Amino acid sequence: MAATQLYDTFGRLHNYLRISLTDACNLRCAYCMPNEKIAVTPSAKLMHVDEIFEIASIFVKLGVKKIRLTGGEPLMRKDAAQIILQLSKLPVELSISTNAVLVNEFIDVFKQANIKTINVSLDTLNADEFQAITKRGDFQKIISNINLLLTNQFKVKVNMVVIKGVNEHAILNFINWTKDFPLDIRFIEFMPFEGNAWLRDKVFSYQQMLDVIATQYNFQKIADEPSDTAKKYRATNHLGTFGFITTVTEPFCGTCNRLRLMADGKMKNCLFSQTETDILAAFRKQQNIEPLILSCLADKKEALGGRFDFENIENRSMIKIGG
Ligand code: SAM
Ligand code: SF4
Repeated sequence: MAATQLYDTFGRLHNYLRISLTDACNLRCAYCMPNEKIAVTPSAKLMHVDEIFEIASIFVKLGVKKIRLTGGEPLMRKDAAQIILQLSKLPVELSISTNAVLVNEFIDVFKQANIKTINVSLDTLNADEFQAITKRGDFQKIISNINLLLTNQFKVKVNMVVIKGVNEHAILNFINWTKDFPLDIRFIEFMPFEGNAWLRDKVFSYQQMLDVIATQYNFQKIADEPSDTAKKYRATNHLGTFGFITTVTEPFCGTCNRLRLMADGKMKNCLFSQTETDILAAFRKQQNIEPLILSCLADKKEALGGRFDFENIENRSMIKIGG
């Protein structure tokens, strides 16, 4: 089949697949995993290593060129290395989003898999605040793992979810970090998911972030990568860059190229889609999953999964979707 199958009804080419490997995590960020006792999906209901490879291969056959592994925490899966190495055989740019707690165990795997870019989540540069946000004490390990990635020449993007009254004061610390380190910091507006106590008042907006940064730094807009979710900038004479993911105040659905396969093998055509397509169930029945993938894409709405009201969102929690 030609590699031009993945257009939606709005003419957007979808060549980027995010695959969640698990909904388990070794941190407990409240904006993502709302409840300590949230039930983790049993492993029989998760895609197995060979299923991930086979299903991903079909997406690639249809035109996917880029795959990002996510979760939950993808590196917590016992077979994470095997999954990464198998997927690296596909003709795609492979990357991963991680909280970096286990990154030191995977440096060689990332190199073998030819992974160039790693996205790391970190919401503060203060150990006590980190403990408060994640309810875990791995701050120093994450910092040393980010340094390990940089020493090993990986491109590191650091994702910070900015929540008003929680961590907006840390924005300037992150900009300062880009002075001498080639990091790309991405400030993410707080998004609503099930159980995460989202309120519009807790969103620290793109414009508010720019205003805070302007109090201390001169900076320039730089070119955004095609279909990138971030609006990118660089502070004058800084080695690294910073950007904003503005889903709430300036959604970027017009250039969306992303599809999502969740750890239980269900597909979402949008982070906020109200429907899911059970790819794994069909695959296990040895049905042809190509028409299912294409009809899921055909149902994609123009923006935000067809929602116009963030206030009443019903969706899985982020940990169950995979960011
Ligand atoms: N455990 C990995 C990590 O933390 O990077 C991968 C999974 S995590 C769900 C992926 C991304 O989603 C992270 O950058 C995280 O900050 C982001 N995220 C989770 N909940 C969010 C929310 N409510 N609003 C905005 N971003 C969120
Ligand atoms: Fe875990 Fe990442 Fe969610 Fe934090 S953001 S709870 S590290 S999956």
